[in-house]
Amino acid sequence: MSPLPWQTDRWRKLVELQDGGRLPHALLLSGPSGIGKQPLAEALIARTLCRDPGELACGECHSCRMLAAGYHPDLLTVMPAEKSRQIRVDAIRQVNGFVAQTAQQGGYRVIRIEPGEAMNVAASNALLKSLEEPGDRTLFILVSDTPSRLLATIRSRCQHWSLAVPPLEVAEPWLRERLGNGDEARFWLSVAGGLPLLAEELAGAEARQLRQDLRELFDALVRGGEPVGEAARLDAQSLDRILWYGIAWLEDLIRLGLSGDPSRVRNGDLLPLYRQAVKNARVRDWFRLLDYAREQRRLLAAGGNPNPQLVLEAWLVRWSALLRS
Ligand SMILES: [Zn+2]
Repeated sequence: MSPLPWQTDRWRKLVELQDGGRLPHALLLSGPSGIGKQPLAEALIARTLCRDPGELACGECHSCRMLAAGYHPDLLTVMPAEKSRQIRVDAIRQVNGFVAQTAQQGGYRVIRIEPGEAMNVAASNALLKSLEEPGDRTLFILVSDTPSRLLATIRSRCQHWSLAVPPLEVAEPWLRERLGNGDEARFWLSVAGGLPLLAEELAGAEARQLRQDLRELFDALVRGGEPVGEAARLDAQSLDRILWYGIAWLEDLIRLGLSGDPSRVRNGDLLPLYRQAVKNARVRDWFRLLDYAREQRRLLAAGGNPNPQLVLEAWLVRWSALLRS
């Protein structure tokens, strides 16, 4: 488990703090999805539990072997229960019990909570006590895409490490090695707004097909296609990704509409469609549609569980109304 190439500075700092005994007992690792929070968290968890760490966890000791085998008694991972998008209070009561015990391997106890913003209010309040009086040799790692959704009282008890989008000159070689093609790496990094793990995911066969389908749909709507009929061709299970693309493309349209500069768009292959769309609507209408899409995506993430097919249809009806106005 190694940190990613663009995390080297962060990693050195964490190692320095840890070796100096100055690592705080609670860290909040935040940054947009696809930036690589998990590899960083996992490298730190492994090094914290390792009996004989160097720059990284040794990979050989009993602790490292247990971790690699998928179970370590001094690591508690808390994630939303399957199908639920929330971390509830009973899961956090388990954390409090875990923190009250001594570590079985005589070292650290580590609690990973992910995503932190999935804790509901009762769960967050229950966690506060442990964050305030964690006891010795305890490390909390909260991982979050949107730390603003954590209770302020939780945030204030964690040291906040916010990960920034890596520079292209570091992200591009990493992705090129994985995709085996420099042009592809640049294209998908641009589509993903510079987020390397997201770019890798979007370049995968299935995700690539979804983007192709959406592009065809965009084209059909610009030419006056009927949105509900078009919606039926899409899989509503991909609603979150469909809205994500909708948001990214609207942001492109707004950038293009405001600046007139085609080099500022992330999806360069869509420029002919953007140019057509920009002719048909005003920038403030794009902003309204953008707010709508963000709100739908937020509701989806909060587990509001609306009917995805209906949300998809409503979304496409709004898109098409603007595209052909
Ligand atoms: Zn080890």
